[in-house]
Amino acid sequence: MSGIYVYSDKPDIVAELVGFGRGTGENIHIIACTSVEAENCAELSADKVIFLKGDNDMVENYAKPIAELLQAEGALLFVVGATPRGRDLAARVAGYLNCGMVSDVSSVIYENGKTITKRLIYGGALVRKESFSGFGVVTVPAGIFEPSGNEKAEVVTVEVQPDKRAKIVSISPILREGVDLTAAEKIICVGMGLDKEDDMQMAKDLSQVIGAEIGCTRGVAEDRRWLPVDSYIGLSGITVKPKLLISIAVSGQIQHAVGIRDSKIIVAINTDIKAPIFSVCDYGIVGDMYEVVPMLIKALKNNSFN
Ligand SMILES: Cc1cc2nc3c(=O)[nH]c(=O)nc-3n(C[C@H](O)[C@H](O)[C@H](O)COP(=O)(O)OP(=O)(O)OC[C@H]3O[C@@H](n4cnc5c(N)ncnc54)[C@H](O)[C@@H]3O)c2cc1C
Repeated sequence: MSGIYVYSDKPDIVAELVGFGRGTGENIHIIACTSVEAENCAELSADKVIFLKGDNDMVENYAKPIAELLQAEGALLFVVGATPRGRDLAARVAGYLNCGMVSDVSSVIYENGKTITKRLIYGGALVRKESFSGFGVVTVPAGIFEPSGNEKAEVVTVEVQPDKRAKIVSISPILREGVDLTAAEKIICVGMGLDKEDDMQMAKDLSQVIGAEIGCTRGVAEDRRWLPVDSYIGLSGITVKPKLLISIAVSGQIQHAVGIRDSKIIVAINTDIKAPIFSVCDYGIVGDMYEVVPMLIKALKNNSFN
């Protein structure tokens, strides 16, 4: 057996997966299911790019050819980017190969034929460590590994027969109402401690002073509908990792905290000293937002903040 094989429909994640593979000392091969993917992955410092050429654009339909390739080549491990399509493909490949699969890991180490993974369970309350020997499939979200370099790889084209039972009939983009908070560098996150919708203006004023976007907890978007549902952060919402997140009147329950904990600096303002947000944040202000936020705005307006 030899070689770690990686796949993602997102080129940025492929680069990160190659970065992971490089750290293992094993050969690292990228699987591409379309000519665009093969082109995008050609210069990511892999040993080989294997372009599975078939007459179908749905990558999920390449699960069987991928499984056959991995088996024929005696792959050590198949690592897939944890995007919706990647998760679907990974599960199908594991099914065809009748092997184990670990989903959405927060870390993965491959050493001497053993794969050791960690992943969050119970809504992020616990970290579960698992390990397996021999071949398996692992899905890895974006941002876990440093991307690889930009060396050109050999591209090998293999003609395959993808499954044709499902095909793409039409593509329509998801219409997003809010900004893309996942890419924001600064976020003001508001919680249910705000008394009324007009008080959102206070958060908006603070966001303007520091050039931040506005996010919220689930209730603010889903129950009160003060912000679009794309704006709520947490387990069932989005995950953010800004350089700065200022959390206002948010209790910091685990289902919300899992979505903010990769932020570089978290500042929390809450009246309740026992609020869980104070064990997640870097700087905590125990106080009433109606007093603290105007003071912050005033202070920041008088100082440069970068
Ligand atoms: C399966 C599941 C998934 C979930 N997914 C998510 C998710 O993705 N995202 C999410 O956000 N939630 C999620 N939740 C809900 C989550 O458990 C919490 O209920 C929610 O995050 C609480 O929102 P909050 O902090 O805004 O409100 P609260 O918990 O009501 O907290 C409000 C806080 O404001 C403080 N406060 C009040 N007045 C002031 C003031 N004047 N100044 C300063 N502080 C003040 C209070 O002390 C309190 O701590 C989920 C729950 C479940 C069961």
